[in-house]
Amino acid sequence: MSEIQEIVQHQKSLFRAGKTMTYTYRIHQLQKLKQMLERYEPRIYESLHKDLNKSSYEVLTTELGYLQQEINYAIKHLREWMQPKKVKTPTSHKGAKSLIYKQPYGVVLIISPWNYPLHLAIAPLIGAIAAGNTAVIKPSELTPYTSELIEEMIEETFEKKYLTVIQGDQEISQALLDQPFDYIFFTGSVPVGKIVMEKASQQLIPVTLELGGKSPCIVDHDAKLEYAARRIVWGKFLNAGQTCVAPDYLLVHQNVKEKLVQHLQKEIEKMYSPNPMESDEFTKIVNERHFDRLMAYLEEGNILYGGKSDRDNRLMNPTLMDAVDWDSKMMKDEIFGPILPILTYQELEEVYDHIEHSRNPLALYYFSENERKQEWITRNISFGGGCINDTVMHLGTNQLPFGGIGSSGIGKYHGKYSFDTFTHEKSVLKQTTAFDLAFRYPNSKVGRKILKKLFK
Ligand code: NAD
Repeated sequence: MSEIQEIVQHQKSLFRAGKTMTYTYRIHQLQKLKQMLERYEPRIYESLHKDLNKSSYEVLTTELGYLQQEINYAIKHLREWMQPKKVKTPTSHKGAKSLIYKQPYGVVLIISPWNYPLHLAIAPLIGAIAAGNTAVIKPSELTPYTSELIEEMIEETFEKKYLTVIQGDQEISQALLDQPFDYIFFTGSVPVGKIVMEKASQQLIPVTLELGGKSPCIVDHDAKLEYAARRIVWGKFLNAGQTCVAPDYLLVHQNVKEKLVQHLQKEIEKMYSPNPMESDEFTKIVNERHFDRLMAYLEEGNILYGGKSDRDNRLMNPTLMDAVDWDSKMMKDEIFGPILPILTYQELEEVYDHIEHSRNPLALYYFSENERKQEWITRNISFGGGCINDTVMHLGTNQLPFGGIGSSGIGKYHGKYSFDTFTHEKSVLKQTTAFDLAFRYPNSKVGRKILKKLFK
């Protein structure tokens, strides 16, 4: 038996023994996870800086702070989430009670990407633990310091047959996908998402796929441009644009383009500096392959602002571009870097066709003061989630489910939705033995009459 098979088998045994089923066990594990993050805080900052040059501000807001909030929320609500839910019972079932039991799936596999390497490995884990599962976590090989730290932290804090980190590249990932997991939670790219789903289908394992895509950001002529620019710059250049829900491109009403560009430049300089690359706090591009891919995009249009880069350190300044063609590579691929192409439109209806170009984006952002148009965009365009007059912030609240639609993903999580994701809702009807209603049986004389009435 391979090591991977052995780990999965040990986890299956622990799960079958019922150890994870109690409230006491789960709350204790969540508390341990919380303390683990507190204990390792300085090392977390250090490894994220080594891997990606992440600033302490970004680690606090987008990695650690977010996780702490999610854990606290799960701890606070766990008892209530775990309760079987009593629902109504129809008259045809008189005497019975209807209940929905919250059943953990069992042993789950979490595969995570490199861009928020701690956040995206641990956030689904919070849901998996709360729901009473055991888990194998496969972090990204592209952020080795953080993945190593995740392994060390989990190994030191939890029993191996409860939570295990397995590091490795796509080969290890595929070997894991061959195992009889009870649920797979994948965060990453669309092409790998397809592989995951295909593999999962062979064993009919349910999946959540948190994928990417091109998220448009629309700025209408009546938008408050100063706020719009500030919020766009923040959402786009956070993590050097390597955020799944970053505004991928701007669609601006042509009458306000010039003014918006001025505001965008001003905000970049205020938020960072005229040359952020020089600071030790601007996130770098994860590897050379991605760096070169981004460099090639710079050839596909006109650079309005920025464009400076440093290949040795894989750094690129925030860059604004225009004169970009819809058929260019940059407008076909997810940009995933600090380049913001700016395209224009005249009538809002055109926006619809343009967005159809990149069907079902993970996020959409619309800036306008007009509520009717806000509603029109929200109702008529299909996207995973998004904001009106802001960017990225919909992700930071545990009250809103986060996930894609169609090519941007399947399933959702955050807050209670994470608990639900890792929980099977088991319907149980508890029948009375005090009496037995005869009308449901085929030999009942009045049965047909009563049933007809009931079904009406
Ligand atoms: P990726 O798909 O290349 O890798 C993700 C994980 O899958 C890694 O752990 C990797 O080792 C593994 N993997 C890679 N190739 C594999 C294969 N052939 N078979 C099995 N496993 C394989 O993604 P990435 O480059 O790490 O991350 C960037 C992508 O993730 C972007 O598309 C981004 O939009 C998306 N993303 C989505 C979200 C979200 O929440 N929706 C969040 C972050 C990133």
